[in-house]
Amino acid sequence: MNIFVVNSGSSSLKYQLFRWPDEQPLCSGLVERIGSAQAEITHQVGPAEQRHALAVPSHEAGLRAVVRLLTDGPGALLPDPAAVDVVGHRVVHGGEFFGGPALIDAAVKAEIKELFGLAPLHNPANYQGIEVAERLFPGARQVAVFDTAFHQTLPEYAFRYALPTALYAEQRIRKYGFHGTSHQYVAGQAAAHLGNPDARLITIHLGNGCSMAAVRGGRSLDTSMGFSPLAGLVMGTRSGDLDPSVLLHLLGPLGYTMEQVSTLLNKESGMLGLAGSNDLRDVGRALAAGDARAALALDIYAYRIRQYIGAYAAVLNGLDALVFTAGVGENDALVRARACQNLEFFGLELDAARNEARAPGLRDISHPAARVRILVIPTNEELEIARQCAAL
Ligand code: AMP
Repeated sequence: MNIFVVNSGSSSLKYQLFRWPDEQPLCSGLVERIGSAQAEITHQVGPAEQRHALAVPSHEAGLRAVVRLLTDGPGALLPDPAAVDVVGHRVVHGGEFFGGPALIDAAVKAEIKELFGLAPLHNPANYQGIEVAERLFPGARQVAVFDTAFHQTLPEYAFRYALPTALYAEQRIRKYGFHGTSHQYVAGQAAAHLGNPDARLITIHLGNGCSMAAVRGGRSLDTSMGFSPLAGLVMGTRSGDLDPSVLLHLLGPLGYTMEQVSTLLNKESGMLGLAGSNDLRDVGRALAAGDARAALALDIYAYRIRQYIGAYAAVLNGLDALVFTAGVGENDALVRARACQNLEFFGLELDAARNEARAPGLRDISHPAARVRILVIPTNEELEIARQCAAL
């Protein structure tokens, strides 16, 4: 079975092709800056990387160019587009409708469209990717895998806000949670590594977006993002948790428009707002050079993670392992050390040398004698999507 995984964003499109059940992709790639004159496709087969600069006016043109790379020339991996059996789509928001992957039909598409209102920055681009793939792979089955689905197991007392009930019942205002595919993947890897399907896990996804989840027995019990991906941890450019009155103050006395508040919270806050860069590598360098803003930003970033570790240890009534993943979580030893500081009370003790050592794959960086494991597990959302497609 050939499974083609597509992650369609507003101006980019990522893809991987799997020949299932082989979990190593045959190829992967990225179409960037769709709609601009400087669009580029990076296509990787094994260790060989090809770059193609070309005009890509639309998602359709981008995916057509990818199909040519897959099916044309001496390096072709497929005889023609009909050889793709399944297209797996990442869709950000599945609302309360989708608690797992869905075979896409007219009703599923209508529901994804219904959710544009709740995810205006993401679902329209995901939807567009589905329509383009339906045209380019008319014989394939199309599957949607939702970022929110894994968190549909949250109990109601965890997902409800203390707002008038009508706002939940009529407007669907509640915690949804995001990054579900990543939390699900690393939680599964961790439970398998521990040999304990009922493991109590705190998964910490630290990338450009950041979120945490409390997971037991493969079920998400709470997560730090909320109604939108703005809530919770300090992120690259997003604020995370904030007193709602700050918004009222911005919109009222300070005269901000809705648009300005949205830009502020989504694009100008987080580490960018605190330290001047959204990239933790820059913040680390600035810290090493003695920059006080960078030091404070990192303190705030780590403090928030530690607060959630405490909260989720309470949610889980104990802890078997902490899991770090994504760009920062997998690579930044200093952030991991700060996030685990002064948590011996919970059985968390980092081994400094193991934390600093670089190695591919799953790593245990806890002190051998510690009560609780601390793991670094590279996330792989594309593989998780392919697995869910195959299972469906
Ligand atoms: P992601 O969203 O998972 O792709 O993560 C992207 C973020 O990971 C970037 O913005 C960087 O801040 C961070 N990152 C990537 N590599 C490193 C590294 N070696 N050290 C620290 N942070 C890193």
